[in-house]
Amino acid sequence: MPESDKKEVILEGIPASPGVAHGTALVYLQNQLEIPSFEIEEAQIDDEIERLDQAILATRSEITVVRNKVAESLGEGEAAIFDAHLMVLEDSALISEVTTEVRKSKKNVEQCYNDVAQRYISFFSSMEDEYLKERVSDIRDVTRRLLHNLIGSQKVDLGDIQSDTIVISEDITPSDTADMDRTKLLGFATDMGGKTSHSVIMARSLQIPAVVGMHDATKRIKSGDQILLDGHDGIIVINPTEDRLFKYGKLATERRKLDKIYHTAIAEPSETKDGSPIALMANIEGAQDMEGALEMNADGVGLFRTEGIFLRHHGYSSEEVQYEEYAAVAKAAGEHPVIIRTLDVGGDKTIGDENFKEDNSFMGFRAIRFCLENLGVFKSQLRAILRASAFGNVKIMYPMISGLSELRRANEVLESVKQELREAGIAFDGDIDVGTMVEVPSAAVIIDLLAAEADFLSIGTNDLIQYLMAVDRLNDRVAHLYDPSHPAVLRTLKSIIDGGIRANTPVSICGELAGDPMFAALLLGMGASSLSLTSSSLPEVKYLIRQIEMKEAQALVNDVLQSNSSEKSMELLESFRKRAIGELLV
Ligand code: PEP
Ligand code: MG
Repeated sequence: MPESDKKEVILEGIPASPGVAHGTALVYLQNQLEIPSFEIEEAQIDDEIERLDQAILATRSEITVVRNKVAESLGEGEAAIFDAHLMVLEDSALISEVTTEVRKSKKNVEQCYNDVAQRYISFFSSMEDEYLKERVSDIRDVTRRLLHNLIGSQKVDLGDIQSDTIVISEDITPSDTADMDRTKLLGFATDMGGKTSHSVIMARSLQIPAVVGMHDATKRIKSGDQILLDGHDGIIVINPTEDRLFKYGKLATERRKLDKIYHTAIAEPSETKDGSPIALMANIEGAQDMEGALEMNADGVGLFRTEGIFLRHHGYSSEEVQYEEYAAVAKAAGEHPVIIRTLDVGGDKTIGDENFKEDNSFMGFRAIRFCLENLGVFKSQLRAILRASAFGNVKIMYPMISGLSELRRANEVLESVKQELREAGIAFDGDIDVGTMVEVPSAAVIIDLLAAEADFLSIGTNDLIQYLMAVDRLNDRVAHLYDPSHPAVLRTLKSIIDGGIRANTPVSICGELAGDPMFAALLLGMGASSLSLTSSSLPEVKYLIRQIEMKEAQALVNDVLQSNSSEKSMELLESFRKRAIGELLV
C-alpha cells in the first residue's frame, strides 16, 4: 500500500520528556524470551549438541564485536567485563553439564542450558564473597545472549540501531537507556512507566522526547511503521498525514522561538524581580553532563546521581574509575558546590544483580540500606568522593535515609574512611559537608532531628510522593494518582522546609518537581534555598523566577496551602504561571 493510503492512528500515553520526533518505529521486546521445552529422540542428541556448539560460536563472535567496540571507545579497562563474559561462555564445566543434561533428560538444548545456568545463578547468588556474587550478572547476560542464538530470535541491540529510530518497548530500564546510541535514537515510548522513572529522567536530561504509560503500544505499532511521537502532549501518531506533519512543523517553530526567549535568562542572575536569590543547580549522571550544566550557567551540581557510572560500566565500578569521574566534575564546577549522592542502587536501577530481584524493589534493599550492608562498595565510593574533594567544593549526600540511626551509621563509615586516608597521607577536604536526602516520609516527620545533624537537606520529591501516596512511580495503572499538588504532598514539603529553616539547615529540592515551571515559584515561596534540576529545564525556570517577586511567591504558598484540593491547587499554580509569563505561552 502506498504510504499516503495508510490510515492515521493516534495512541495516547503520559507525556514524559518534551520534544517531537518523527521517525521509524523499532519495537523492542526485550523480555519476551520464551524458552521452548520439548522431548527429543535418542537419535537427535548429537544434533542438539551440534546446535549448542554453533550457538556458542555465534555468541562468541557477538561478544567479541561488542568488546572491541567498547575497548575502542572507552578503553581496555571498560572492555574487561566482556572478557569475563567470554570466560563464562566457554566454561568447560558448564558446557559439559549441559551436554550431560541433554543426554540424560532427552530434552532440547535450550531447556537444558537454561536449567544448568539457573543452577549456577542460584549457587553464586548464595555466596558470601562479593566478587563471586557479582559473577551472577555475567552468567545471566551470557545465558540471555546464548539462548537468543539457540532459539534464533532476533536480539535487538540498542547500541546498534538505524538512524532516525523511535524505540517502542514494554519497559525501558536505565541500563537500556545508557546503552542507546543517542545519535540515532529520536525518541522512545513504553507501555509501562511513570513520569519519574529513571529512564525518563535520563531521557529528559539527554533531551530525548518520550511518552510512557501507553499500555499496548508494543502491540499496536510494528517495527518499520512511520510514527510521530509528541512528548509534550503524550501522544503517538502512526502514519501521520502531511497535514499533521505541517501543523507540528509550525508548532516546533513557535516552541523554538519561546526557547530562545527563555535562554535570554541564562546569563542573568538567578533571583526574583525584587532580588531574592535562589541557586539553580544541575542534576547530573556523570562528567559528560557538565558541559550542558556549564552552558546553562548552573550554580553547581545539586544532585550527582552516581548510579549512572555503575550502569554505564555494567557493574560495581572501581574506586579509581569513580575517583576520575568525581574529580573531573569537581574541577569543572570550579568554586560551585558539587553534591555527590552515594550509590542509590535498587528500585529500577538494578545493575543486573541478584540482590535486586525483589517484589517491592522500591521499598526493598536499596540505596543506603544496600550500602550499609555492602561496606566494600560503600567505602570505595566514599574514598573516591573524599579524594575528589581535594579538587573543588564537594559535598556528600546519602539517599533514602529513613531515620537518625542510618545517618549516624553512614557517618561512622565516613569517619573510618577519612581516618584511613589521613593515615595514608591522602589529601581530602576534612570539613566536607554531609547532607541527607529527604524522600522517605519517616524522614519528613522527624525533620527536626535530621536537620540538627545534617549540614544540608535535599528533598527527593520523586520518591517522597510515591511513598507518601503509596503510588509506585513506575506503574502506569496508578500513574494518574501520582499527584504532586495533593494537599498532603504540599503540606509535607512546607513542613520539611520550615524544619530546615528553624534549624538553620539549607533545604534544596532535587526531585523532578524542581524543574517543573508550575511548581518552581511555589518551592521558592516556601523557602527552598536552591532547586536542582535537569540542565535543559533551567532556562525556563530561571526566566519564570526572574519575572516574579518573592512576596507574590509567598502569597501563592498561602493560597495553595489553604485550598484543600489538588484541582484547586493546580488552578492556582497555573494561573500564577500565566500571570508571570502568560504572554509567551503558545
Ligand atoms: C528523588 O527521589 O526525588 C530523587 C531525586 O532521587 P531519584 O529520582 O534518583 O530516586
Ligand atoms: Mg529518590
